[in-house]
Amino acid sequence: MSSTVGIPADLNVLAAHVWPAGVQRSPDTGVVSMHGHDVRELAEQFGTPAYVLDEIEFRDRIRSWKSAFDEATNSTASVYYAGKAFLCSAVVRWLAQEGVNLDVCTGGELAVALRAGFDPAAILMHGNNKSQGELTQAVEAGVGLIVLDSFEEIARLAHIAAQAGKVQAVLIRVTVGVEAHTHEYIATAHEDQKFGFSLAGGQALEAIKRVNKLSALSLQGLHSHIGSQIFNTSGFEVAAHRLTQFLVQVRDECSVELPMLDLGGGLGIAYTPDDDPLAPQVIAQQLIGIVAEQCQVSGLAMPRIVVEPGRAIAGPTTMTIYQVGTIKPIDLDGITRTYVSVDGGMSDNIRTALYDAVYTCSLVSRASAAEPMLVRVVGKHCETGDIVVRDAWLPSDLAPGDLIAVAATGAYGRSMASNYNHVPRPPVVAVTPDASRLIVRRESVEDILALDVD
Ligand SMILES: *Cc1c(COP(=O)(O)O)cnc(C)c1O
Repeated sequence: MSSTVGIPADLNVLAAHVWPAGVQRSPDTGVVSMHGHDVRELAEQFGTPAYVLDEIEFRDRIRSWKSAFDEATNSTASVYYAGKAFLCSAVVRWLAQEGVNLDVCTGGELAVALRAGFDPAAILMHGNNKSQGELTQAVEAGVGLIVLDSFEEIARLAHIAAQAGKVQAVLIRVTVGVEAHTHEYIATAHEDQKFGFSLAGGQALEAIKRVNKLSALSLQGLHSHIGSQIFNTSGFEVAAHRLTQFLVQVRDECSVELPMLDLGGGLGIAYTPDDDPLAPQVIAQQLIGIVAEQCQVSGLAMPRIVVEPGRAIAGPTTMTIYQVGTIKPIDLDGITRTYVSVDGGMSDNIRTALYDAVYTCSLVSRASAAEPMLVRVVGKHCETGDIVVRDAWLPSDLAPGDLIAVAATGAYGRSMASNYNHVPRPPVVAVTPDASRLIVRRESVEDILALDVD
């Protein structure tokens, strides 16, 4: 990863594919707004930092993933939004309204969905260490699909379902030996990670044999998830090849043709102007094409395809607005890097510290014709690694009190937020042309103190 980024020609230009669709900069004042709502007013009303979410775009993205797979399969595929990217009641309702299913991985996420009235039959639950309580909660609620991840869990879930007098539909999580991150993927024979049953090691076949013997479980198919922030379908191609070969083996050795194939999520979004993600239509056609071809070669009926996009729905819809605090130029052998501190940091966006994630930011509360300066946007936490944007260019007249925004923070921003340093977590504000409203309120110091019960 390069230590600097190229100087943009014009700091005032907001790359349309990086910022939420409803975001615009006024040609007169330079102030940025979302669907006509001025960021200065949003900051005034809701405080900073705040996640500002474009509700129109969020719904559009839900709808376009669904329609892309409907079109590519004559409506025989299912899209499950991966709730771990960002989940709250409003999101649950948008999904229900657009007819998209929901993927959860904990009892907490399940509780959010159920309280918002989501149809439990349209929920899939996965996770490598679901507790007895979580499995019971899922079975009793009538969760449509549970993804089995270990031999212990097979026995545990069968027992819970039998006790409840139910037959639980399940998928088997398979590790296919493909790991995809951003532009590359690695195909290996063995998997050194915590999820699923390995194909290469024969555990997946053994899991299927065990599930088939249990009358309280009804095996629907395979589940796989190969990585995150993936920009092309080559990793999926290798995964699909291995999965269909396995489906043939299952047919031949267990005399069952599994009707469902879940390819997981992991599709990439633009965090910087250089990122160029594929459109959902293209991904749908390519993924379906890959599986169809593999099935044809192997003489299998085409299974029902499931996909679980999280980031690709939530990520691009949101920007985080911060207020600039201290500004500190540091000389480094001839170049100056200016540390710009904002009123949040690793507690509202851990991805930079955790994964070296890259982000785009901009001055949003006014125009500036000043020369660009190289900055590092840092938070207020007691941690040197508390970096929000590692390298960026902002106008050199940046001053305390200015507002800056970081783009594409809708996925794994609020959902991974913490209370480090007892900093309350920011609100999520949903914006449409008609209104701006809280969908998740700001945490208060009282909320934090309330947990401390001694
Ligand atoms: C994390 C995860 C997803 C969503 O991943 P994105 O990168 O947000 O699309 C989907 N399925 C499973 C099983 C996951 O663990």
